[in-house]
Amino acid sequence: MKPVCVLGNGQLGRMLRQAAEPLGIQVYPVGIDAEPESLPIAQSVITAEVERWPETALTRELANHPAFVNRDIFPRLADRLTQKQLLDQLNLATAPWQLLADKAEWPQVFSTLGELAIVKRRTGGYDGRGQWRLRANETDTLPDECYGECIVEQGINFLGEVSLVGARGHDGSTVFYPLTHNLHQEGILRTSVAFAQADAAQQAQAESMLSAIMHELNYVGVMAMECFITPEGLLINELAPRVHNSGHWTQNGASVSQFELHLRAVLGLALPQPVVAATSVMVNLIGTDVNYDWLAQPLVHLHWYEKEVRPGRKVGHLNLSDSDHPRLAAALNALVPQLPQEYASGIAWAVEKL
Ligand code: ATP
Ligand code: MG
Repeated sequence: MKPVCVLGNGQLGRMLRQAAEPLGIQVYPVGIDAEPESLPIAQSVITAEVERWPETALTRELANHPAFVNRDIFPRLADRLTQKQLLDQLNLATAPWQLLADKAEWPQVFSTLGELAIVKRRTGGYDGRGQWRLRANETDTLPDECYGECIVEQGINFLGEVSLVGARGHDGSTVFYPLTHNLHQEGILRTSVAFAQADAAQQAQAESMLSAIMHELNYVGVMAMECFITPEGLLINELAPRVHNSGHWTQNGASVSQFELHLRAVLGLALPQPVVAATSVMVNLIGTDVNYDWLAQPLVHLHWYEKEVRPGRKVGHLNLSDSDHPRLAAALNALVPQLPQEYASGIAWAVEKL
């Protein structure tokens, strides 16, 4: 099987490499410090774990490689302006938005979008960074350089957030995991819950939206779509042309993980519908040091990224899967005293959902 070079060497690249190992497939995550001689570039298929990567001679060579899957899709989705334009072009429901080009537009923005405006950097934002929640009397707090570089969206008073992770093969076939329920706090994903069987109407709407997007782009691999649940149905928040944090539960809760699914898709291997037999909960470890006492809980799978621990930084996650909900809830509750206090509300949210 061909080796795979991955642009980016964060935790997603690491988990792609981990998923490839049992299959006997070589995956090489490529960061800025990579040694070109150590990579089998000519024979490789190229993919990415981030939408934008640092420019070096090596990343330029990989990005221009004829076997770079989805090459032209990355810049289109990495810019929120062109991403939103794609959703509008496909007539897919998304939070109402416009380009924020000039300060003089504010009165019109609030009269069109309502009292809460969410300003987002067109490129480079993540985990809630590069994002401002503004009311009409707060627009002065927005840095001047944002104008032209940001879009502004209607603040949605959503009932909840879900994401759909799916994959499309070279032959145009698609497969999807059940919808994942996500809790974000301060713009960062804290906890996810996925049931073996999602709400049928929501799942059907989400699959039809993500299928339309992947077919339009002729996309190959795993893509994630984040949505807001509203009384009128799902609104798309954003798309990620890669494996996604809200799909991490599939490592221990599905017959094929999102990481393996992505590799299968880009390598042209079989893409069967993954089987999900139990409920899964994923708890992101954010700015918290590893504690091997967590392993005393038999349901806990620890995924530690071996990154330096800094406040607000994703450094690992815990996956728990069980079809016995009282047992799953008990394991989650037992984790609460072993984690810093800020985890309690996210875990309580997950337990409540079961
Ligand atoms: P990610 O790390 O997922 O890439 P991000 O920083 O790129 O996140 P978004 O996903 O756009 O940014 O926003 C992060 C969170 O902020 C959302 O999951 C949601 O909770 C909240 N949010 C974003 N846009 C809106 C909106 N228009 N209305 C209400 N809440 C919003
Ligand atoms: Mg997001």
